[in-house]
Amino acid sequence: MKHLRSFLAGLAAWAVLDSLHAADLRDPALESSPWYAHSLVGLEVGPTGSQFGSSPSDVGFASRFNGGDIARATQACGAEYLVIWAREGDWVFYDSKFQPKPPGLGNRDVLREAVGEGHRLGLPVIAYCQVQYPGHTLREHPDWRAVASDGKPIDGRVCYRSGYLEYLKQMVDEQLAYGIDGFHLDMVDQGFGPPYGCWCATCRKEFEAEYGRPMPAGVTWDEDWDRMLKFRYAGSERFEKELTAHIRRVNPRATVDYNYHGNPPFSWEVGQRPVQHAGNGDFVTGETGVWGFSALTVGLNAEFYRAATPGLPFQIAMQRGVRMYHDQTTRPLNDLRWELLTLLSHGGFVTIVDKTAFDGWLDPVAYERFGAAFREVAAKRSQFGHPAVYEVGLYFSSRTRDWFGRDQPAKYFQSFQGAHKAMVYEHIPWGVILDEKVTLETLKRFPVVMLPNVAIVSDKEVALFRRYVEEGGKLLVTGLTGTRGWRGERREESALQELAGAKLVRELDSTDNWVRFSTRSDVIVEPWAPSESMRGSARTNWPFLVRGPAVVYEATTATPIGELLKPHRTSLHVEGRYNQDWPLSADTPVGPAMLLNHVGNGAVLTFAGSPDWATASDHHITETRKLLANAVRLLNPEPWVRIEAPTTVQTVVTDDPIARTLRVHLLGYDAPPQTTPAKDRPYVLPVPIEDAPIFRVTIEVRDGFKRAKAFNPATELKKGGNRLELLVEDIHEVVQLSY
Ligand SMILES: [Zn+2]
Repeated sequence: MKHLRSFLAGLAAWAVLDSLHAADLRDPALESSPWYAHSLVGLEVGPTGSQFGSSPSDVGFASRFNGGDIARATQACGAEYLVIWAREGDWVFYDSKFQPKPPGLGNRDVLREAVGEGHRLGLPVIAYCQVQYPGHTLREHPDWRAVASDGKPIDGRVCYRSGYLEYLKQMVDEQLAYGIDGFHLDMVDQGFGPPYGCWCATCRKEFEAEYGRPMPAGVTWDEDWDRMLKFRYAGSERFEKELTAHIRRVNPRATVDYNYHGNPPFSWEVGQRPVQHAGNGDFVTGETGVWGFSALTVGLNAEFYRAATPGLPFQIAMQRGVRMYHDQTTRPLNDLRWELLTLLSHGGFVTIVDKTAFDGWLDPVAYERFGAAFREVAAKRSQFGHPAVYEVGLYFSSRTRDWFGRDQPAKYFQSFQGAHKAMVYEHIPWGVILDEKVTLETLKRFPVVMLPNVAIVSDKEVALFRRYVEEGGKLLVTGLTGTRGWRGERREESALQELAGAKLVRELDSTDNWVRFSTRSDVIVEPWAPSESMRGSARTNWPFLVRGPAVVYEATTATPIGELLKPHRTSLHVEGRYNQDWPLSADTPVGPAMLLNHVGNGAVLTFAGSPDWATASDHHITETRKLLANAVRLLNPEPWVRIEAPTTVQTVVTDDPIARTLRVHLLGYDAPPQTTPAKDRPYVLPVPIEDAPIFRVTIEVRDGFKRAKAFNPATELKKGGNRLELLVEDIHEVVQLSY
C-alpha cells in the first residue's frame, strides 16, 4: 500500500513538473542554447535486420520504418530530441546519390519524414550516420579498405587516411540539406581486435614523411611501434576534426558528436585515447549497459566520459533490450529506470536506443515504459546536473593501458575497475582522473588520489604527485605502480621510491598473495594507529588472500604496516605441473603489507599487494575490499559526507554551492537470483530488475546540515545531530540537505 501511495503521489508531482518543464523550454535563453545544453533524455531509433548483412530481396525490411510515426512516438513519450537512423553500412534511409535505400521503403524518405514531423512537434532531430564498417562504400571503393601488416586488406574496415573523408563530407552535406539539427557519428574506430591496421600505401607514405623511416613490420612494441600508435591516434583525431570543421562550415548550428570508445574495456586497437578522442565534437557520447559492460560500470562509464571532457555536457547511450541491440526484447520498467537514473545522477544526459522490429514497427510497450521513465525524469529535473562531490580520484593512465596492458589490457583494467568497485560498495564518493591532461588543479579536486596498479609513471607525473602531496594531498598506491619504464620494461627502482619512502626489492611472480596484521608487527605512530585502523574487520594473526600482483618493499622513510606473505609452492609448481592460476595457502612473510610515508603536508600510503585487482577478481573477499576503504579513511579521517548503505545501493553526492544544498542520490540495484546458464557455467548474467528494493541508509555530514528533504513522500527520514537515517523503497531516491 505504501508503495502505491508513493506512486500516486509521484504521478501528481509529474503532472505539476511537466508543465513547469514545458515553461522552461519556452524560456528564450534556453531556446537560444543548443539542444544538448538543456536536454536530459532522448531516443535513438533505428531499424533491426541488417546488422548481420542484408539482401535487396528482403522487401519487408524497414517497410514500416516511418520517420513521422517515430517523431510522434518520441514526442509523446516525453523524449526531448530524436536521433534517427539516416545511414548504416549497407543502406541509407533518405534519398542519397551515394548509397541505396532498402527496397521496402519504396519512395519514402525517413529522414524527410522525421525532420518534417519532428520540427512540427518542436523536437530537435539528429541524424545517426554510421562511419565505421561502411560496407556499401567499400564495395565501390575497395582501395579505401584498411590494410593489415601482412599487406592484406581487412574486410569491412576503412582507412581514415583514405579518400573516405572527402566522400563522407559529401554524404553529410546531403543530410545537412534536410535541415537536421546535428549528427551522431558512429564512430571513428580502427577495429576491436586483430588484424590491426593500417599498413596501406597512403598510410605508409604519410608515416615515412612524418618520421623519416618506414613503419614497423607489425605490432613490435618497440620505439617504432610507439610512433605507430601515435600515428594511428593522430589519423583518427584528424578525421574527426576535419569532418567536424566541415559540418560547422556548412551549418554552424548543427551539432556534432562522435561515439567514443576511449574507456575500458577498449584499448589502443580501437585507435582512441581517453582524452584525445573525446573532445573532437560538441560533446562526447559513450555507450553503457549491462549487455556489453556490466551493471557496475554503468556509473563508471558516465564518470569516465565526464572526466574526458571536463565542463561539457556528456551523453550516454543505453538501450531498451535485455541483452543486446537488435534483440527485440523489452526491459522491465524498473530495470530501465535504474540505468537511466544512475546515469542522470552522475550528471550525464541519456539517449535510449530503440531498435525497431524488422519491418520498422515500434513496440508500444517499450514506448509506454519510456514515457513512464521520462515523466519521472521531468519531475526530478532540478535534482540533476550539479557539481559532484568527490573524495577519491581514480587515476587512469592511458600510457599504462597501452604499454603495460599491450595485448592484454584487462590485466591493467582489472585494478582500475576493482578500485572503482571497492569505492562503490563502500559508498566513498569517487571520480576519474585521466593522465593525458592532468594538472595540479585536477588532482586537488580530490582529497585522496588513488593509483591502482599504474605501472608506468613518468617523471612529470612523479613531480606532479609530489606537489599534490606536499601541499596536503593524500596518495594511495597499489601493486605494480611505478615499477615499469616508459615502454613497459621493468625498472630496477620504483618511480615512486622517494614518495613511497620505500625501496623496491623484487616483484612476486605469484598473484595468490596474502596479507596479515599481527600484534607483533604492529607499529603505532601518533596520531594514528595505522595497523589497527587498517585491519578493520580482519582479525589479527589471520592471513587473508589479496589476489593480484605484489611487490616486496623495504621501508626507508615510511612506516611499515602489517605483513605481505608469499604463497606456498609445491614441488609440482617447480616442475610446472601444478595449476598456476589457483590460489594456494599462505607461506612466510616477505615484506610489509603497506607503507605509510609523510611528505610535506600530505601522505603516501602504499599497498605492496593489489586489493583493487583482488576486488574485481573471482576471489574477492570482503576483508580485501575493506583494506581500500580503511586506507581512504586513514588518509582522510573526516570527509564532508559519510554514507552507510547496503552494497546493493550506489550513491552519488552533488553540491549546489549557491543554494547551499548537498544532494545524495541513492540507487537501489535489485536483480533477482539467476539460474544455471546453458553455456559458460558459472558465469551468469544478472536478471533485469523488476522490484523496487527497500533499504536503510545513514548519511553523516561533517559540518552539520539544517534541513533534509527526500523526493519521494514515502521515504522515512530521521534526523539526529549531524546524522540522517532513511528508509527508502524505490529504485532511486534523492535526498536534499541544506547547509
Ligand atoms: Zn591506411
